[in-house]
Amino acid sequence: MSEPLRDPLERPIFEKGSPGRTGLDGFGPEAGAEIPIDSSLLRDDLEKFPEVSEPELLRHYLRLSQLNFSAATNFYPLGSCTMKYNPVVNEQIAAEPGFAGIHPYAPEETVQGALRLVVELERWLAEICGLDAVSLQPAAGAQGELAGMKIIRAYHMGRGQRPTKVMIPESAHGTNPASAALSGYDAVPVPCDERGLLSAAAVREFVDEDVAALMVTNPNTLGLFEADIEEIAATVHEAGGLIYMDGANLNALMGVAKPGHMGADVLQFNLHKTFSTPHGGGGPGSGPVAVRADLEQYLPAPRLIEEGGKLRWQRQGPESIGRVRSFYGNFGIAVRAYAYILACGGDGLTETTRGAVLAANYIRARLEGAYHLPFEARSMHEVVFTDKLQNEHGVKTLDIAKRLLDHGFHSPTIYFPLVVSGALMIEPTESETLETLDAFAEAMLDIAREARTDPDTLRSAPQATPMARLDETRAARHPVLTWQK
Ligand SMILES: *Cc1c(COP(=O)(O)O)cnc(C)c1O
Repeated sequence: MSEPLRDPLERPIFEKGSPGRTGLDGFGPEAGAEIPIDSSLLRDDLEKFPEVSEPELLRHYLRLSQLNFSAATNFYPLGSCTMKYNPVVNEQIAAEPGFAGIHPYAPEETVQGALRLVVELERWLAEICGLDAVSLQPAAGAQGELAGMKIIRAYHMGRGQRPTKVMIPESAHGTNPASAALSGYDAVPVPCDERGLLSAAAVREFVDEDVAALMVTNPNTLGLFEADIEEIAATVHEAGGLIYMDGANLNALMGVAKPGHMGADVLQFNLHKTFSTPHGGGGPGSGPVAVRADLEQYLPAPRLIEEGGKLRWQRQGPESIGRVRSFYGNFGIAVRAYAYILACGGDGLTETTRGAVLAANYIRARLEGAYHLPFEARSMHEVVFTDKLQNEHGVKTLDIAKRLLDHGFHSPTIYFPLVVSGALMIEPTESETLETLDAFAEAMLDIAREARTDPDTLRSAPQATPMARLDETRAARHPVLTWQK
């Protein structure tokens, strides 16, 4: 059989080409004639080095890039991850030489504009979350959590106390208990009630003077607003604990409600989720940490101070938890967030939040009945369904997720949060048009019909992708990254 010219799997580049073929004129075995390259720099000891033409090379990598799915290619309703549209102009702004080309060791007087951006963004973020001081240093949401937990630890130690526990609702993101444990605390899971919420009664039952903090996400990872939050915060504060709020779901709050007003003492932002940085596939991210005024001295160092109209870095104070990252955080992401907030303005951020909540509730209304909704409470920026109705036909959440790929959509987040069996967590974000939301809803309804009429086909989905179902554990634990004959 002849080889297909366009191989849908895109074989490794090492399997392509032909001996002696070169990508650029003058770089072949007889190189040196046209382009004078020192012979010591020419290698002939690379076995199986790809020998391909320039067009082959270009096509290979371009096709590989087309096997990726991104928010720039289609609807990407990955719950909890906020895969919203990231305005391209922010990429251009972050790439400006005045931002992208400066060195972290550049003398302060030469980078006053960049430093001004940092302090202004810190101030804006404080305003958005209703807290008093912010550090942009943490490089991801999880690292912001870790910095926040260390701040809480420093606060208790400053008062001569050593509480050992951190209460965490069962619906929490996995990074929450991890951050608490890495900070030396025992993570105590608190169950959520039949509303999918943390009740003040449950908190009262668990809280005592050995509790350093409650780590709570609001809206929670079920997409529901924690209605008892003020009472809960008061209960924890009374017992001497602090409220850590995971701010990864700020796309449901900004411009509308402030965690600081709900009783939060410490919070992390996920700038890459809420404030327009392309993400997924491992970063980079940015997880600024925000605190109440009386916790400011514990923030990561260094901090910017202003003297005579000039900004400069102030070395670490005695109370600070110290550095959590080299230099000053992922500055390029701060630039994008700054540009995004500036472009939206306060009213724009409010509109963004409203749009995100409206879109999630629209999807909810369109799919209600066809998919099981585990909770009654109105959704915020994301909605969680389950596969309960499809289970009757032997169809699971994974089958639904895989079938969506055939419809051209990315799957929602599946099997998370863990407290819901067979969860399908859909976060449409404010970016999408009504037509896109409808097309997605139609695809989901189609799949629900197919579960009744043709469950076998559904279980063998996807059919339209180069690979069908991988052994995901093996692919993660034993990835084959080299070519194999
Ligand atoms: C994404 C997320 C995190 C972790 O943020 P990273 O930037 O991925 O480290 C924490 N909590 C919640 C609720 C999240 O959605």
